[in-house]
Amino acid sequence: AKSSGRNAVSFFDLTMQTNLTERTNLEAALRQGIAQDQLKLYIQPQMKQDCTVYGGEVLVRWQHPTLGLLSPDKFIPLAEETDLIIPMGNWVLTAACKLLKQFSQDEHLKHFSLSVNVSVKQLHLADFVEQVQSTLLETGAPASQLMLEITESGLIDNMADSIRKMERLTKLGVRFSLDDFGTGYSSLSYLKKLPLTQVKIDQSFVRGIHFDANDAAIVRSIIALASAMHLQVTAEGVENREQLEYLQALGCDSYQGYLLGRPAPWQSVIQQLRDCHFK
Ligand code: C2E
Ligand code: CA
Ligand code: CA
Ligand code: CA
Repeated sequence: AKSSGRNAVSFFDLTMQTNLTERTNLEAALRQGIAQDQLKLYIQPQMKQDCTVYGGEVLVRWQHPTLGLLSPDKFIPLAEETDLIIPMGNWVLTAACKLLKQFSQDEHLKHFSLSVNVSVKQLHLADFVEQVQSTLLETGAPASQLMLEITESGLIDNMADSIRKMERLTKLGVRFSLDDFGTGYSSLSYLKKLPLTQVKIDQSFVRGIHFDANDAAIVRSIIALASAMHLQVTAEGVENREQLEYLQALGCDSYQGYLLGRPAPWQSVIQQLRDCHFK
């Protein structure tokens, strides 16, 4: 019993060691991956009430040299913990702005806007406003076509500072969307304080909207509140017609989800938009 106990302990230590090594390896690989352009921009289309596509959300993927294409849940948490989210976020923002510049020179795509996810760690950088401003200048992207998605979590730590930065960026023409709305705390006070254009209803409420009375009530309230405050409402995670029709009836302004299209490499999304004469 004694020896098996000792073996158990050393096995445990070995596992921890392996996890730590794996983590360290992954961190080093991600650092290198960012520098070597292994990140890929995927775009998921967004549409208005009348079902025309007006823009898309930028969702990052990592083309790992041996593990293949990784989705954000495999590396964003690590990036957040290690502050690699900052160079990663810069990479994504720059790539998105380059695309916006390209769109602006294209008759078919010049009204297409991009929503980019921004971590609170980025927002809390002392020179975040200057960074966004210089990215816009360097790429020549029109600020009016850029929307930044922020989440409630983390905002509270630095509310006054976040508001100031958002206001300065709003003056430049950049818009803000409050992502995953309803899943955090004190959502209602944020709505009043933050300079927002849009709130994004989290997919957890959209999922059951057509059969769950509670989900329907929550979504109905969010839409009523947002429209009273002159905010646009967008719903994410729309997977079927029933959900879409329900949201349309409630007066939701725009939609995003597998029903309309899954996130795909930006090149193929753009090709599809050209083929169906995006307006
Ligand atoms: P999010 O911002 O809430 O993005 C929506 C997620 O829902 C995406 O997952 C998208 O693929 C997924 N989704 C879209 N439509 C549907 C649907 O109809 N049904 C279902 N079940 N899911 C749908 P994805 O691409 O895996 O991204 C996950 C999260 O990773 C994002 O959640 C966002 O928080 C984070 N993320 C992605 N890209 C970036 C980035 O560039 N920067 C930062 N900071 N975070 C990012
Ligand atoms: Ca988002
Ligand atoms: Ca979301
Ligand atoms: Ca989410």
